[in-house]
Amino acid sequence: MDRKFAKTAKLVRYFTGRPCNQGHIAERYTSNGACIECMGRNVAMDGDERKVRSEAAHAEYERRQQVKEAKAAALLNLVEGRFRVFVEDWPVLRDTAVGMCCARFPVLERMDVISTKPPIMHAAGTALFRTLIDPQDVEVLRATADALLAARRKVDISAIRARILQTVLAIADEHGSCPDSIDIKKPA
Ligand SMILES: [Zn+2]
Repeated sequence: MDRKFAKTAKLVRYFTGRPCNQGHIAERYTSNGACIECMGRNVAMDGDERKVRSEAAHAEYERRQQVKEAKAAALLNLVEGRFRVFVEDWPVLRDTAVGMCCARFPVLERMDVISTKPPIMHAAGTALFRTLIDPQDVEVLRATADALLAARRKVDISAIRARILQTVLAIADEHGSCPDSIDIKKPA
């Protein structure tokens, strides 16, 4: 019997008596001409694969949930600290804070810790920045912020001194001598 005849006769399956590609001598489905033994195997394999895949997906889901819970627990240990630095120094201080958090709680990643909150209280090129930090690290981060602030202020002061000195020297040139009333020392 061939497939054409089976179709005409509206049979679900038919039998050719010839082996399929895999060597099965079995009935074939009229709908697609496939050997029923081959189809049976495919279905069984798909079932196993599906099971393995869903087990893997479940394990992955469980793992992600555990990481999520561990992250939430770690975040509970952190507080929001406020540190004033020059705007240019914020990335350095922020990365220091993030590094400290991730060192204390290795489950945390940069994206979990990094603050997206805008700075507050801008003043003279500085701002009060907010970041998460472990309470144990607040002091050392505060010292770092203060050092950054002091370092840049020092640079700014010497720049201002240099500018004043230049101005004074220019005045002195115009007058042919250094005015006695202005006593400026060269910055070290
Ligand atoms: Zn077959």
